[in-house]
Amino acid sequence: MMLLDGQGRKHDYLRISVTDRCNLRCVYCMGDEGIAQMSHDQIISYEEILKVVVAAAELGISKIRITGGEPLVRKDLVNLIKMIAEVPGIKDLAMTTNGTLLLRYIEALKKAGLNRVNISLDTLDADKYQKITRCGKFEDVIKAIDASLDYNLNPVKINTVLMKGVNDDEVLAFLKLAMQKPLHIRFIEYMKIGDHDQAYSNHYLPLSFVEKTAKKAGLPFKPVPLPGGSGPAESYTFPGSKGTIGLIHPISKHFCDSCNRLRLTSEGSLKACLYWQDEKPVQPFLNNKEALKNLIREVLYGKPVEHEMAIHSKCGSINPGSMRGMSKTGG
Ligand code: SAM
Ligand code: SF4
Repeated sequence: MMLLDGQGRKHDYLRISVTDRCNLRCVYCMGDEGIAQMSHDQIISYEEILKVVVAAAELGISKIRITGGEPLVRKDLVNLIKMIAEVPGIKDLAMTTNGTLLLRYIEALKKAGLNRVNISLDTLDADKYQKITRCGKFEDVIKAIDASLDYNLNPVKINTVLMKGVNDDEVLAFLKLAMQKPLHIRFIEYMKIGDHDQAYSNHYLPLSFVEKTAKKAGLPFKPVPLPGGSGPAESYTFPGSKGTIGLIHPISKHFCDSCNRLRLTSEGSLKACLYWQDEKPVQPFLNNKEALKNLIREVLYGKPVEHEMAIHSKCGSINPGSMRGMSKTGG
């Protein structure tokens, strides 16, 4: 079964935000007081998530990513992973995490059916890590990355938001990491999400900076197929690397024409585009699978051609962005 949106794009990927809560306060994602959290009864339950996954899988969704907030702060996440892994048609089950709690659960997650992880790490300097995340412990993430390789949660991807004046001096250090370990390091363009106008203007840097830095250091990039299938990243190798470098630039080179993803927010709304305001609550449709399937089709039928961010950056102006933080929608 093939699930198409209104533009004829094939959709096989559902990203599920299981919580808006987080144990960190990354500067580009939240204020230092965090975000106004939803109460537990506003958050979609595991049983409800499972109903959406079953309906989506019957329509052609085969890849699921669990994200948040920080997914590992939600109680009994291993049970959700197990339930989703058993849904017929789900072939790939991944999680995006800040990695700080991963070591604690990694064995159980692997056993439950988690196939792979993306771990967020913006710096290789412990003090800087503390400043960027405001409360994270660098060593916990490094241990989690090594454990992910040991547990074969492959390809192990590292998400690194490039920030001018913060970590742009560490591009070569990240390339060195990809020489030492078979990691897929994905530089992500800083996105203006939420109300971080000033920080965005101060720290946005296009990813062409990464390619230029590598070239200057005598490490020219060569394109390679994306590790672990399709996605928005361009993927590269360079002389001496065991892993790859990915470049995800939603602003300077948006990837809307190949978008294959649908999102379920932590309050239980379907969202066809991360940057579009439209969303539809699943709640009224949960007891009728056919109605739920129709809702999924309807949401995808109305999916925009491009996100607002791309439209505005083309005009040369700073885009207005969605006012909803990444931690709430699920990055
Ligand atoms: N807490 C988990 C984590 O940090 O990996 C999952 C949720 S987090 C919102 C998902 C991804 O969004 C992270 O890799 C994070 O770096 C990225 N992110 C958050 N805010 C961003 C922004 N303003 N620009 C670019 N990436 C952002
Ligand atoms: Fe938490 Fe992830 Fe946002 Fe950082 S990026 S504050 S870890 S949700």
